[in-house]
Amino acid sequence: MTEETKILLSEKQIPEKWYNIQADLPVPLPPVLHPGTRKPIGPADLEALFPMELIKQEVSTEKWIDIPDEVREIYRLWRPSPLIRARRLEKALGTPAKIYYKYEGASPAGSHKLNTALAQAYYNKKEGVKRLSTETGAGQWGSALSIASSFFGLKCTVYMVKVSYDQKPYRKIMIQSFGAEVFASPSDKTAAGRKILAEMPDTSGSLGIAISEAVEDAAKHDDVKYALGSVLNHVLLHQTVIGLEAQKQMEIAGDYPDVVIGCVGGGSNFAGLAFPFVADKISGKAKNLRLVAVEPSACPTLTKGAYAYDFGDTVGLTPLIKMFTLGHTFVPPGIHAGGLRYHGMAPLVSHLHKLKLIEAVSYLQNPVFEAALLFAKSEGIIPAPEAAHAVKCAVDEAIAAKEAGDKNKTILFNLSGHGHFDMAAYDAYLSGKLKDVAFSDDEMRSALKSLPQI
Ligand SMILES: *Cc1c(COP(=O)(O)O)cnc(C)c1O
Repeated sequence: MTEETKILLSEKQIPEKWYNIQADLPVPLPPVLHPGTRKPIGPADLEALFPMELIKQEVSTEKWIDIPDEVREIYRLWRPSPLIRARRLEKALGTPAKIYYKYEGASPAGSHKLNTALAQAYYNKKEGVKRLSTETGAGQWGSALSIASSFFGLKCTVYMVKVSYDQKPYRKIMIQSFGAEVFASPSDKTAAGRKILAEMPDTSGSLGIAISEAVEDAAKHDDVKYALGSVLNHVLLHQTVIGLEAQKQMEIAGDYPDVVIGCVGGGSNFAGLAFPFVADKISGKAKNLRLVAVEPSACPTLTKGAYAYDFGDTVGLTPLIKMFTLGHTFVPPGIHAGGLRYHGMAPLVSHLHKLKLIEAVSYLQNPVFEAALLFAKSEGIIPAPEAAHAVKCAVDEAIAAKEAGDKNKTILFNLSGHGHFDMAAYDAYLSGKLKDVAFSDDEMRSALKSLPQI
């Protein structure tokens, strides 16, 4: 048993392959359907949007996929990321439980998103693409992709959800600092944006709308491709470096988690940490391991949504994917965890939830910020509001262990990013201005009506 607080790996221990959970699924993923014909799509249907190597990864059932040297080389700037034993938080809670967190905020982008942004920029560059178009919610993905694009010499256009564009000017400036262009979405740059603006001129925007704009931009231009920061299989694949490193680090610590926790927006940081551990659960190595996805009560996709075929965007341009969804027309309230405001959920995360291999919980935002500040005062890091949802769940698990007199519980969670660009959200919390909004049954009924009939 190590006495260390930070468990670090050397650069040589950066994983050489990503782990593809599709190889180990007890039941394969349902097919993705064409939005027009409603028949399963093939690689050719995705060629306008993505480079071939990413399309291959999207459908691959190979268990291990090589990480290109060019990508690993840049991972070395901050990977392996630290695994930290939250001893001071344990003390503050008076819990006998051990709490570990994997800190992805150590990346230059401030979150886990650079793990996939680099891989996506690399494959696009290799296949001759000149510009990437994308959406961003809180601005985290936009900053990650702008960094990756600048590293690989690509232009980059970011459609940024309007509420974040207004609330988070510093993320916007960060994106511009790396040479990318940013538009508040809905924008007048695309037909999708103009349509929404005509219908709802005062809309605060949503990820679904911004995706419609970015997809249209890529579909209309031959040398432009689209990059998505979450949800898709290849994105979740790239994030598995997090869990693969964490497994080695837990081994060094002489521990193994009883519960693995991550917040979920589209599902990628949760998947990144959890999937290598789900493999242990599927193989029988860790039969009783619990994996918990944490979401905001204002956008409770896994805990309240329907498991159904739906569009990934608001306008209905994307293929139909089977996932937990609140309906593609759902515009979540402007809660501060902008990165968790997505109507759908990664098909892989949805599938595992349906198969009961993972669990989900949801929290209102005030208790989430309360836990985040307890964490900050103990560990010194102000969590991103998204990551704060994972913190809240870890704190609750630790308190439950204390109350049950359970002395052997080990908790591992993903601190997906820091909150240094989210001070406005903390300001709102500290001055008592945050509203606790939950998703209503009425909203769910109207969401269900918007689902395409398959
Ligand atoms: C984007 C983001 C999330 C949510 O996205 P996932 O794909 O669910 O990981 C969570 N935390 C941070 C810090 C983010 O930037």
